[in-house]
Amino acid sequence: MTNSLSQSIDLTCPKCRQKFKAEIWLIIDAAEQTNLMEKIIQEKTHELPCPGCGNNGNVDAPLLLYRPSETPILIFSPASQTTQEQDREQADAEMERLRREGQKAYQELEEESRCRAENAPLLQMLQDFIQSETWSESQRIVQQHPSCCQTK
Ligand SMILES: [Zn+2]
Repeated sequence: MTNSLSQSIDLTCPKCRQKFKAEIWLIIDAAEQTNLMEKIIQEKTHELPCPGCGNNGNVDAPLLLYRPSETPILIFSPASQTTQEQDREQADAEMERLRREGQKAYQELEEESRCRAENAPLLQMLQDFIQSETWSESQRIVQQHPSCCQTK
């Protein structure tokens, strides 16, 4: 069972109005999708060029990055046009999906959160990420939360 999740969406190019289908990534397991890591680093994961005119559209979608052998194990990059409430629901939904379909991944996350201070459960950690406005901000927050599980 793969942990990564992409979704096919219908888009309309804002420039030439052409409709096209595109795939956006919602969850990326870094161990599975090494080829996507380059894009993530360049913050281009949700950049989708229009097949008609080549206009580079940016899709506003959240991204959950799961890194089984890295610290931190989880990075959430929220969509920028959503409210914090929507972001939290989105993160909850993705966590729930992981719990159902990626048991091993979820267990690792649980372990990670247990390993943190008891008053800082995983959801709180997620919320910190969610409340950040940008990808770089998420990464900054991540760096402020060094994991205690640095055994790998
Ligand atoms: Zn176009």
